[in-house]
Amino acid sequence: MSRSQTDPKGADVKVGLEIHQQLASAHKLFCECPILKSEELPLSFERRLRPAQSETGKLDPAAVFEFTKGRSNVYLWNPESSCLVEADEEPPHQLNGEALDIVLQIAGLLHSNVVDEVHVMRKIVIDGSNTTGFQRTAVIGLGGYIEVEGVRIGVQSVTIEEDAARIIGEDEKSRRFALDRLAVPLVEVALDLIAGSPEAVGNVALHLGRTLRSTGRLARGLGTITQDLNVSVKGGRVVEVKGVQKLNLLPKVVAYEVARQLGLLEVSSKLKERGVRTVECKECDASRVLLNTGSGVIQGKLGEGEKVVCISAGGLQGLMGWEPSPNIRLGKEVAEVARVNGLGGIIHSDEFAKQGISQEDEEALRKECGVGKDAALVLLAGPASKIEKAAPHVIWRLKQAAEGVPAETRSPTEGGESRFMRPRPGAQRMYPETDVPDVVIGADRLRALKKLVPERWEETVSRYERMYSLSRDLAVKLLDSDFPDIFEQLASQLKLEPSLVASMLVDLPVRLTREGIPSDALGQDSIAEVLRAIDSGRVAKEAAPDVLRSIGKGEARSANEAVERLGLGSIDDGRLSEIIESVLRSNRTLIEARGEGAFSSLMGEVMAQARGKADGRVVSRLLKERLASMVGAEKGE
Ligand SMILES: [Zn+2]
Repeated sequence: MSRSQTDPKGADVKVGLEIHQQLASAHKLFCECPILKSEELPLSFERRLRPAQSETGKLDPAAVFEFTKGRSNVYLWNPESSCLVEADEEPPHQLNGEALDIVLQIAGLLHSNVVDEVHVMRKIVIDGSNTTGFQRTAVIGLGGYIEVEGVRIGVQSVTIEEDAARIIGEDEKSRRFALDRLAVPLVEVALDLIAGSPEAVGNVALHLGRTLRSTGRLARGLGTITQDLNVSVKGGRVVEVKGVQKLNLLPKVVAYEVARQLGLLEVSSKLKERGVRTVECKECDASRVLLNTGSGVIQGKLGEGEKVVCISAGGLQGLMGWEPSPNIRLGKEVAEVARVNGLGGIIHSDEFAKQGISQEDEEALRKECGVGKDAALVLLAGPASKIEKAAPHVIWRLKQAAEGVPAETRSPTEGGESRFMRPRPGAQRMYPETDVPDVVIGADRLRALKKLVPERWEETVSRYERMYSLSRDLAVKLLDSDFPDIFEQLASQLKLEPSLVASMLVDLPVRLTREGIPSDALGQDSIAEVLRAIDSGRVAKEAAPDVLRSIGKGEARSANEAVERLGLGSIDDGRLSEIIESVLRSNRTLIEARGEGAFSSLMGEVMAQARGKADGRVVSRLLKERLASMVGAEKGE
């Protein structure tokens, strides 16, 4: 066999990684708007984008692809979070100096060469996510490295840039964006190609994230970090997977992409074995031929006055449904392209029988299209206008099968796979942004920043172990979470053990999320509220999971409400003394026989009767006192 099938080892995988992280600056990059998410977006305007020709006169394939979808962009905004700059009605103001300082500091941590002058550039964006049609970006550092377990990974560039608008919905006619996120300052770090396993890529991203966060000047929380990947295997093309938000998804996304590319190369080898160099495609109307087909889906579409078009693809018969590796099929790839272009999917000839399309139907289709048995048939069903738009893209994808891996941009799925988004943009040209003055980076500024050396990640871990008596494991988990700041705050304010505070912040939400409680329902505010309630003695710490569960399920809006609902309030000292006295009375024989040795069995009984409403430490202290005096009295002291 010419290729090592779909074994990723020996596939010569190369992965480019770009991390974008939101900076914790007070305002946006080119205006004074604060950074906040607007719940209400009362104002709006509409724009239509046209694909711009590059200097060579060529149209960018990705731009044309987006444009042919023919949608307009609607921007919604609120003056509390956006102004005329985001609306592109006013030129950008000066580059945010605070944000620039943070990125200069990051460039220093990554041993990158800082530029003498910052020139803001415009990078064309085609998906409507910026009102201007471009993104403003400026290189701050070039070169550098990070060290991951003794291995140096090169840094290509450290860039400051503006975030895109937030997409809030789309349909056939328009895409809707919120301007609150537009122009929020980000740092982008691009690394040299990493050659290694998907896990190694995940590990590099983890280390890079820790280094960036050690500045203490990055925003935390969901949506504040996104990672873009460029993945290629030997013989394939570079495929971009854009917008991975969760670190633990990275290895999965890389592994899927490697398996997908190797699978597609297998399909192309099969075609070569069949002597097929180019996939010939023909399009014919299949509505009449399939008028009496057994396929319910097709019958339904035709009944509604819609159309069925058959596209033949020479040489591909049997290869559409073939799985060179699990869940990797050419048919799935073609269906993704059809879906992105507004159709529900496709039906291809390898699944005709399953879809109720008979052999007679198939023969009639081949006759209608004038193709032989070697061709795969792909049916597109839907309104004529939609098919007309989608068909050229489906044909493009079928033809790419001979090449193996098309150069495309994909978006990750929740499960760590990815879906076709659009063809990959051509080399992105940048143009100078003449509305923003250049910024000279003086030696004084760099010297001042050098003095602000942040605590390295490793140092913070040790400090947490030392200062708060946390285990290393807990300290690492805490630092990788969104909660180090609130932890330090609570640990200094509350009388509770810091380890209890830390594990409530990082372990408990994980446990409850596994039970199916939505993770965003367990914010740091709820947890802090529960910790304060424990600290003040209103709730026993044993009851904390029940309280948070109740908040997470939406049964209660606050810790206090949950405590009341669940009847979990701590029992008062009077009631606790009653329980202790009654347990002592009913165990007199045991106490006579074992003296103070009876403590642990008595303790168990008191705790059981208090049912999680009493603090173990308080019970232990009271019970010890009472038991000692009882035993003392019996000895006649
Ligand atoms: Zn603004």
